[in-house]
Amino acid sequence: MPEAFDDNQSVLTEDGKVVVTQAFCHNAHDLINKDVKISGYPSINLLVSDGKTEQMVYISAVQGDQAKKFDKAYPDNTLLSILCPVCKEELDNIAPCDCTKGSKFVAIYLNKKRSFSGCVGICNSWNCYRSFMGSAWRIISRLADKIS
Ligand SMILES: [Zn+2]
Ligand SMILES: [Zn+2]
Repeated sequence: MPEAFDDNQSVLTEDGKVVVTQAFCHNAHDLINKDVKISGYPSINLLVSDGKTEQMVYISAVQGDQAKKFDKAYPDNTLLSILCPVCKEELDNIAPCDCTKGSKFVAIYLNKKRSFSGCVGICNSWNCYRSFMGSAWRIISRLADKIS
C-alpha cells in the first residue's frame, strides 16, 4: 500500500514516486477526476483552449509521468490557456518557462489556501514537459528519494 503523507496531500507509489491526490484551482475547485485514471491513479482534469476550440485534458497525477488523455493534439509548442473546468477561469500564472516565447507555468494548488508553497506548476506550451514545483513538493520528493 502507498504510504500517506501529511493530510493525505500525496502518496508514494511502490517505486517511490509521488502521486498528487488533491489538486485545486485558485478558487479551490477540485481538479482530481477519479473516473478518468492515468497510470492507474485518478487524473488531474483541466480545460484547455487554443483560442479557437476548448477541450478537456486529463494529465497524470504521478510525478514525472507525462501521460495524458485528450481528444485532439495541438501542434508542439502551441501556447494554450489552461482553465479550471468548474469556474472556467485561467489558472494563476507563476513564472515564465523558457521553452518557447510567451510560455508560462500555471499553478495547480495542492491545498485550498492558494499558497505557492503547496503547488505544482505546469507549462502552458503543448508538449513542454517541464514543470515547476512549490517548496512543499520538493520536501515531499526529497523524502521520497530517501525512502526509495
Ligand atoms: Zn475553479
Ligand atoms: Zn515550457
